[in-house]
Amino acid sequence: MARIAIVGSGFAGYGCARHLERALRPAEAEIVLITPMDYSLYTPLLPQVAAGVVQPRSIVAPLHRKLHRTKLLPGAARSVDLDAREVEVTKLCGDHVKVPFDVLVLCPGSMTRTFDIPGLAEHAHGLKTLSEAVYLRDRVMLQLELAASTDDKQERASRCSFLVVGGGYTGSETAACLQLLTSKAMRRFPELRGLLRWTLVDVAAKLLPELGDHLGEATERILRKRGVDVRLGVTVDKISADSAELTDGTTLPTSTVIWAAGVTPRPVVSSLGTETAKSRLVVGTDLQVAGHPGVFALGDAAAVPDLTREQGAVCGATAQHATRQAETAARNAVATLRGTALSEYRHQDLGFVVDLGGLQATADPLGVKLSGPIAQLVTRGYHLLSAPSGRAKARVSGDWLINALTGDDLIRLDFLQDSSGTLAELERT
Ligand SMILES: Cc1cc2nc3c(=O)[nH]c(=O)nc-3n(C[C@H](O)[C@H](O)[C@H](O)COP(=O)(O)OP(=O)(O)OC[C@H]3O[C@@H](n4cnc5c(N)ncnc54)[C@H](O)[C@@H]3O)c2cc1C
Repeated sequence: MARIAIVGSGFAGYGCARHLERALRPAEAEIVLITPMDYSLYTPLLPQVAAGVVQPRSIVAPLHRKLHRTKLLPGAARSVDLDAREVEVTKLCGDHVKVPFDVLVLCPGSMTRTFDIPGLAEHAHGLKTLSEAVYLRDRVMLQLELAASTDDKQERASRCSFLVVGGGYTGSETAACLQLLTSKAMRRFPELRGLLRWTLVDVAAKLLPELGDHLGEATERILRKRGVDVRLGVTVDKISADSAELTDGTTLPTSTVIWAAGVTPRPVVSSLGTETAKSRLVVGTDLQVAGHPGVFALGDAAAVPDLTREQGAVCGATAQHATRQAETAARNAVATLRGTALSEYRHQDLGFVVDLGGLQATADPLGVKLSGPIAQLVTRGYHLLSAPSGRAKARVSGDWLINALTGDDLIRLDFLQDSSGTLAELERT
């Protein structure tokens, strides 16, 4: 029987497996999903997990429940041999296996992009995984507790000061949701009043540059009104355990730097040895890697031509594209096995939503510019529609309701007490 191997269980991989299960007769092909996770993660709600508004378990789709005849291989793809048509996999137990394929759907997503900045690897924290969201919440709460437990003015200042680097949706939402949590927590830490400081920097001239003017400007307005120090055209030169030097010449006392300055594809992508653009695999409009029939790449890992924009443009690294590309990839995987024509990927963005916590959000659904509570209503509706399972929708609604009625739990979970919290450890880079 033919074998379709899928690498990654994010929006693209999980979506593709679901479409394949529907489109293929059981005797037509075996579907193997290679992934270190046994769930698919709904990343847009990670900032709310970090803020403790939504529980970690609420934003996942469990693969064992949602996939019925896809074989799960718990491990990470290390390399792809296009000539032998095999994926080399390291299983989570450490064993190495080779998975031959007739059709490959490559979607290992991305990880946080870093630069050669002194101190970044040791001191900065990301927000791409559930572990990072849980770690970040614990870290932020711990800083307030430690600040309250010392009389040392310098220590208090650095523990109560938080720096977010990157004004895309990850950075903006994370700064907004965590700033709200910490400012509400101040009621419990009266000795820290006046010390709380949130700074958001981005090297670009505006926030959310990839999402158009409205979302960036409205988000900046709301954040500044809340007291977040937004600095544009600025980035970080050096990070230490209790300070960060910025390119505007200032040094911020801070014990917590959240690094959200973009993403880069997972390294397995480069093992193919085919053309890349900004490290993403170059593919055709049918998602196929040129010269390698039956090898498809999509999602954050691939530079997919965007047929709705000017020639040469590629699709953004968004869940919207990854979800819809999954459908095209599944259709083309089936077409490859059946020897029929492949189809092209084409999708126009339907707009974006940016949740800034509480009653605040910005959104531009179908080009309608919204901000404030109405945008929050649209944002939450969008997340409920898009959450990956009925259970996730029910759990997220329940979490929102409980949080609105009972307020925040000001606790650390401490599951990651011994973790370094670095990007390398929590993203397994
Ligand atoms: C905090 C945050 C907020 C976001 N908000 C939005 C938003 O509001 N709207 C929006 O459109 N997009 C948003 N995004 C972007 C969106 O999450 C990504 O574009 C999307 O996840 C890409 O889907 P993907 O399937 O390509 O990759 P992913 O969803 O990252 O999935 C990749 C999968 O591959 C697995 N994997 C990794 N390496 C390997 C390997 N070597 N072998 C096997 N499996 C591997 C991973 O464990 C994961 O399961 C957000 C991202 C973040 C981090």
